[in-house]
Amino acid sequence: MKLHLYDTYTRSLREFQPLKPPEVGLYTCGPTVYNYSHIGNLRTYVFEDVLRRVLEFNGYRVQHIMNITDVGHLVSDADEGEDKMEKGSRRTGRSAWEIAEEYSEAFRKDLRLLNIYEPGVWCKATDHIQEQIEFIQCIEANGFTYRTSDGIYFDTSKLEDYGYMARLDVEGLQAGARIDMGEKKHPTDFALWKFSPSGEKRQMEWDSPWGVGFPGWHIECSAMSAKYLGTFFDIHCGGEDHINVHHTNEIAQTEACHGTRLANFWMHGYFLQFDAERMSKSSGDFLRLQTLFERGYDPLAYRFFCLSALYRVKLTFSWEGLDGAATSLERMRQAAYDWGAPGNVDEDFMEKFSATINEDLNMPRAMAVAWELARSDLPPSTKKATLLAFDQIFGLGLGEWKPVEEEVPAEILELVQQRQQARSDKRWKDADALWFLKQEAAYEIEDTPNGARVKRKKSLVSGD
Ligand code: AMP
Ligand code: ZN
Repeated sequence: MKLHLYDTYTRSLREFQPLKPPEVGLYTCGPTVYNYSHIGNLRTYVFEDVLRRVLEFNGYRVQHIMNITDVGHLVSDADEGEDKMEKGSRRTGRSAWEIAEEYSEAFRKDLRLLNIYEPGVWCKATDHIQEQIEFIQCIEANGFTYRTSDGIYFDTSKLEDYGYMARLDVEGLQAGARIDMGEKKHPTDFALWKFSPSGEKRQMEWDSPWGVGFPGWHIECSAMSAKYLGTFFDIHCGGEDHINVHHTNEIAQTEACHGTRLANFWMHGYFLQFDAERMSKSSGDFLRLQTLFERGYDPLAYRFFCLSALYRVKLTFSWEGLDGAATSLERMRQAAYDWGAPGNVDEDFMEKFSATINEDLNMPRAMAVAWELARSDLPPSTKKATLLAFDQIFGLGLGEWKPVEEEVPAEILELVQQRQQARSDKRWKDADALWFLKQEAAYEIEDTPNGARVKRKKSLVSGD
């Protein structure tokens, strides 16, 4: 089964073929580091991680680039208002540079907790100012820019198919444009370079051929992806909110300078939504991975929760849903542990599994295949090897997990010891009698290929 991926640009499922096999260039838009990431943001990174793992599963070598937006992302996507970084600096009383460092580190920690592979290259917008200036010069030389009192803008009317990927109704937008366009000529025009406000010293500003200021938000991705992957590469990803503005403008910039649509495939992860509270990073009131951890959840339960839905549908977060994921993860881990040492993989199951993941990363169905494997009557060692192979995609760390051994009182361990002895002596009655004794106690014994396991009875722990 060949790999098929949904491409937002053509709005179709296409067979994936690398441009330069076996290499695959993958660019994923990273966080704006003015605050912590919320679990919605992290859903997008889990999707991208699954994509990368599926590509590697298919034998490709993935060159993965992720940017860190540490300048230029303004409060409004329409290039107005304060820079999110400078605003974050005011909120926290620390410098924009300090908070960029701190939130980048917090983000990397979240990725680690979710078993998300690190990109091969992290690139910060502020480390690539020269590349961005040169990219803007290229767009300018090709006649796509104009100057206003506050910056250099991209003239979207000059580009024949501006907004094609988003299927934007450019004329409709133009007709409905209100006066708050400022000096922009068209509502879809956007800033490439913004001037520092006169009489105000920004924390982050640079010299440029146009005056002191800072780059617009979109140019960093066109400039840095070109630097690390070339001007036409395999796959570009982000959240669905990027389709209309950010990615549309990245494409416009690269078309204006290099004449390509930047990436062969455009893929978008759909939002995690929250029923009661609408979570937004800018409001500061949101659920972090850390919050889930503090409430007693394993971060990987959240990864499991994400895998329960197709990346191309919205997913509603609920505590019940997360509980369900945590329970299923626990069951899967325990099963894998109990199966003991891995043997050979089962080829039929592998085939079924790779067909589902290659069908546009169908994780819910891949999970169903895993449960089917667990229920099958294959030998435990085969189940184990096959599930571990599946886990290259799931990323749940099933091979490393061990049950946390609870402190079991000495007298209970003594009873277990006696029962084991009775069993090996084939004194079945005695063994059963000890079983009965144990039933009276708060512990139960489970016989597994790894030997007898004693654990506290669930019902007694929770008191119901
Ligand atoms: P930001 O840090 O705001 O630039 O966003 C980082 C990534 O998270 C981007 O790819 C966004 O598209 C994505 N994103 C933002 N909100 C959500 C959400 N609620 N669910 C899934 N992805 C999101
Ligand atoms: Zn981007």
